[in-house]
Amino acid sequence: MDHGTLIRSVARWIADARQVVALTGAGVSTASGIPDFRGPQGLWTTQPEKERLFSLDAYLADPDVRRQVWQLRLENPAFTAGPNEAHRALADLERRGRLHTLVTQNIDGLHQAGGSSPERVIEIHGTIHEVECLSCGRRVPAGPVLQQVRDGDPDPACPECGGLQKTATVSFGQALDPSLLQRAHDATMGCDLMLAVGSSLIVHPVALLPRTALETGARLVIVNAEETPYDDRADAVLRGDAGELLRAIVDHLDALQQA
Ligand code: NAD
Repeated sequence: MDHGTLIRSVARWIADARQVVALTGAGVSTASGIPDFRGPQGLWTTQPEKERLFSLDAYLADPDVRRQVWQLRLENPAFTAGPNEAHRALADLERRGRLHTLVTQNIDGLHQAGGSSPERVIEIHGTIHEVECLSCGRRVPAGPVLQQVRDGDPDPACPECGGLQKTATVSFGQALDPSLLQRAHDATMGCDLMLAVGSSLIVHPVALLPRTALETGARLVIVNAEETPYDDRADAVLRGDAGELLRAIVDHLDALQQA
C-alpha cells in the first residue's frame, strides 16, 4: 500500500476507534533539537561512552558520574526547546476527542507545552523539570538546583536530609513508578488502537505495551523513521518524520469529519 492510502486508512481507524492510546519516544522531539539515544544522530550512537551515565548503579556509586550528569543536565536542550508539529498534531487529536491517553517515554515536557492536557499525559520515565532526593523522596523544581550546580556545587545534596539528588527521570536499573505503569497498562488494556510514534520500542517495560495492545485485539500503528521490532505485527507502519506524518493523519481525519 502506498503512503497516502495508508495514511487515509489510519485516519479512518482513528475516527472509528473507541479508545486511542499514543505511545511516544524520543523521535517525537528530535525536530525540537533534542537528540534521541539510538537514531543516526542519537546520543549513544555518536557518543557510546555516555550510556554509562544513565545507569542508576553508576550514579549511586561514583561521584564523578554524578558531576558529569549534572553538567549534562545544564546543557540539556529540553530546558530551552519548544514543541514541534508532532507534539501539536497529538494535541490536536486530543482536542478532536480522538486521544484518550498519551504515554510518553520522553522527559522533556514538550507534549504538555504543545497543548496536550497534563492529566492525559503519562510521563512514564519521569521529567527533567523536577529533581528528586533518592533518600527522602523530596521533589522540587529543577531550576534552583541547576542554578546551584552553575554556582559551583557540582553534586548538590538534599537540603532536608543530605541525601543524593537526581533529576526525576528514570535511569537504567531504576524502577518505574508503579502507579504510572499501572495507568499506562490500564489505558492500553482498554484501547482498540495504539499509535506508537518516534520510539525504537526496545526499552522495557514500556516496549511491552504494544504487545499488550495487540494481545487485547487492538490495532497497532507505528510511525517511526527506522524499523522497530513490532513492524511485522503492526497493522500499519508509516516510515518517516513523525511531525509530517501525524499532521497528514490529522488533516485526513478533519477531511473525514467534514465529508
Ligand atoms: P530511542 O532513541 O530508542 O528511539 C528513537 C526512535 O525515533 C528511533 O527509532 C529513531 O529512528 C526515531 N526517530 C528519530 N527522529 C524521528 C523523527 N523525526 N520522526 C520519526 N521517528 C524519528 O528513543 P526511545 O524509544 O524514546 O527510548 C529511549 C529512552 O530515551 C527513553 O527512555 C526516553 O526516556 C529517553 N530519551 C528521551 C528524550 C526526550 O525526552 N526527548 C531524548 C532522548 C532519550
